[in-house]
Amino acid sequence: MLRVGLTGGIGAGKSTVSRLLVQLGAVLVDADVVAREVVAVGTPGLAAVVEEFGPDVLAADGSLDRPALGRIVFGDTARREALNAIVHPLVAARRAELAAAAPDDAVVVEDVPLLVETGAAPTYPLVVVVDADAAERERRLVTERGMEVEAARARIAAQATDEERRAAADVLLPNPRHRDGVPDPLPGLVERLWRERLVPFEEGLRAGRRGPVPVGTPAEGDRHRVLHRLSRAGGPAWLFEGDRWPLGAWVSAESGLADLGYVPAGQRRWDSADPGCAVSVTVLPEVIERLSVGGPT
Ligand code: ADP
Repeated sequence: MLRVGLTGGIGAGKSTVSRLLVQLGAVLVDADVVAREVVAVGTPGLAAVVEEFGPDVLAADGSLDRPALGRIVFGDTARREALNAIVHPLVAARRAELAAAAPDDAVVVEDVPLLVETGAAPTYPLVVVVDADAAERERRLVTERGMEVEAARARIAAQATDEERRAAADVLLPNPRHRDGVPDPLPGLVERLWRERLVPFEEGLRAGRRGPVPVGTPAEGDRHRVLHRLSRAGGPAWLFEGDRWPLGAWVSAESGLADLGYVPAGQRRWDSADPGCAVSVTVLPEVIERLSVGGPT
């Protein structure tokens, strides 16, 4: 099984890409569904929200009155953080539960709107970002979802910037404005992502086989993402200089590597199964300690 984090700014096209991936065979963990489930009537999540914000956030039928809650938290950072502190852990736990219930050979795509904002990118073996610039997203929200311009701008401004999201992307799927009469390139891009990266990555993980070494040279961004992921998997990590694949790394612990796209490769060795990002890892806690390296900056 491979877990993929799919994100993008509001209106970028996450739902569109999710749909295409499901058609190709992915199992979708849908953010909207999860967000509703964790505060459904009778859940501890809803009880915690009412405890924090009072009974006025309940509708007459006892369900969460989202617009009422939205009015409280939207312009108020402290209140929004209080809500997030309740909801985000429940959402993450429910997502993990749904992913774990998928078949062994599944490519599980988790639609996570705030993946970058919550710092969750390094917890996924692969992060796919659907990319449309903020002006185009605003246009879609206004013309296609009927939002007020001010509301659309406020929603966009409350999220990560395009640059922050691009920096977290292992795969960037450009989804600029699609004009009538011109073939939409998005389905082809998604199909290629599925065939050339997601399926072989998943198969490699399941077979315990490392990915092929990509052609080309790793970019600075690749190095950053690898280091963040390795540090998340097992404490301080050290990435060697070098402009060739595979990247070489030392890590202090191996406990989290299997969940982040790595396969065991013999004593103290792990390799990435990602066909787009080859990394050879050696587990050397004693050396890491001597180097006294910190986490990535
Ligand atoms: P998200 O799930 O990221 O918020 P959606 O997939 O719902 O985004 O897309 C937002 C809106 O933009 C939808 O109405 C969708 O039909 C439209 N849309 C998506 N991709 C494009 C595109 N390339 N060109 C024009 N409109 C698009």
